[in-house]
Amino acid sequence: MTLLSSVIAAAAPIGDALTVSEVAPGIFVHAGAIALMTADNAGGIANVGFIIGDTAVAVIDSGGSVREGRQLRAAIRQRTDRPIRYVINTHGHPDHVFGNAAFDDPATSFVGHSGLPLAMATRGGFYLAAFRRSIGNDLIDEVRLIPPTRLIDGDATLDLGGRILTLTAWPTAHSDSDLTVLDSRTGTLFSGDLVFTGHVPILDGSLRGWLGLLDRLAAIPAQRVVPGHGPVAAWPAALQDERRYLQALVGDVRDLIRRGAPLARAAQRAGQSEKPHWPLFDDYNARNATAAFSEMEWE
Ligand SMILES: [Zn+2]
Repeated sequence: MTLLSSVIAAAAPIGDALTVSEVAPGIFVHAGAIALMTADNAGGIANVGFIIGDTAVAVIDSGGSVREGRQLRAAIRQRTDRPIRYVINTHGHPDHVFGNAAFDDPATSFVGHSGLPLAMATRGGFYLAAFRRSIGNDLIDEVRLIPPTRLIDGDATLDLGGRILTLTAWPTAHSDSDLTVLDSRTGTLFSGDLVFTGHVPILDGSLRGWLGLLDRLAAIPAQRVVPGHGPVAAWPAALQDERRYLQALVGDVRDLIRRGAPLARAAQRAGQSEKPHWPLFDDYNARNATAAFSEMEWE
């Protein structure tokens, strides 16, 4: 290593903060890449953010690698020196929890759905192995699965000092550990992957469960949503495209099952009318259709 490159290597992490925008007063969001997790994007595909109260900060999702988590922490420290009291995970998928270790500190509580510890325990090893292959040893070696210790069932509140967040743990929908966070002061909802905008929805829970939640989600008194993936959008209008996609999927799968189509054909056909509307459609739709088929086969 030359002197110059060693200086650059040593200096690089210091200014290495995620780009965030203030979507409402005191609420900052980093827009994840609309892409699969790769070494190049450091797993940074989910929207991650933080909320600053009078006495504390809450992080909402920690990113797809510890590197991304550190960059998120650096972005927080550029804006406030208040303690990071909470790291809230909206569910257990790697792009939302792999950065947790960047926030491991005795003063920080990890917060999640009551089903999240089990989801992380049963799926975590598989995720680490799978993503080691796709994003590489350097990023995965640092990842430690840190489950929540503050568990949410139904509704709960967190106080950041003059700023109350309402957390809601939902029945199985996108996944089996979906949690939303509402900041009433600004009417900002962090939906996790219960809402996708500009990124095809990913089904890892229950299609019927998810569809069944949409009206309850729409009733949340928010002005805007920070979805798990895709642009921040007006609420509840942001749900329209996702509702249409999920309805197309359930209708097609039900129809294919009724006509005796095998799983492989259903995976190819179901939801195809939605293809023009969604980035990453071909990366996820067949998997969604397969999951929906397994769920609905015996209904
Ligand atoms: Zn996600």
